[in-house]
Amino acid sequence: MAQPETDSTHPGAPAASINSPHPTEQLNTSEKEKAEQKAFSQWRRNLSLITGLGLTPEEFQAEVEKADRKQCELRKEQLIKSSPGVRFMMNNLAKAGCPLAKNMFDCGVCDMTKSGGFSKDHGILLCQNGFFSKKHQEHTMIHEMIHMYDHCVFNVDWSNLRHHACSEVRAASLSGDCTWTREVRRGFYAFTKQHQECVKRRAILSVQANPSCPSRDAAEKAVNAVFESCYNDTRPFEEVQI
Ligand SMILES: [Zn+2]
Repeated sequence: MAQPETDSTHPGAPAASINSPHPTEQLNTSEKEKAEQKAFSQWRRNLSLITGLGLTPEEFQAEVEKADRKQCELRKEQLIKSSPGVRFMMNNLAKAGCPLAKNMFDCGVCDMTKSGGFSKDHGILLCQNGFFSKKHQEHTMIHEMIHMYDHCVFNVDWSNLRHHACSEVRAASLSGDCTWTREVRRGFYAFTKQHQECVKRRAILSVQANPSCPSRDAAEKAVNAVFESCYNDTRPFEEVQI
């Protein structure tokens, strides 16, 4: 990598020495050098964040996590204010008697296969390193809020695969996880089937990750058993939001 110009040692400037006849000038030069050194350090640090050079892997990871968290928190605040789906679910959680407190709606680091999670004890986790867009974060927020709503209203037993499957079907269907466009949804029946297939596939994957689930086969059976009734249960929405 090319070195920056500010990394020079100022060959034209007098060397600092106790014999220098111009202590004031010497001080000025020294301060100037310090300022330049500081600017260079800042410059190198900014470059390091882009390239990863100059930082230990741990430092680089910490910087990435800090940046991810900042973006996740910022988008969360924006979506709470502006997303109709997020606002609708926040209101309905409050109406159902389970208001979503800010400290139960957190950004954090997850393994790369996840984008969010709901825990009855800890609330909603948004995977700050798992979002590929703001829309993805919005869908994830709504998805997890539907799980929270189900837990609040329907008393879900999360170790019961059929209970879990029902909530996953509803969350995948209502959150926008399987959204195409409204036009396509209205105009082409085949795409309605695709929406259902997408909901089913995603619900199976989620149920499969339940520690109580012994196999993919068991997850498929649970989802198929509840699909019809849970896909059609759009509460608190009036219809599928696609
Ligand atoms: Zn889910």
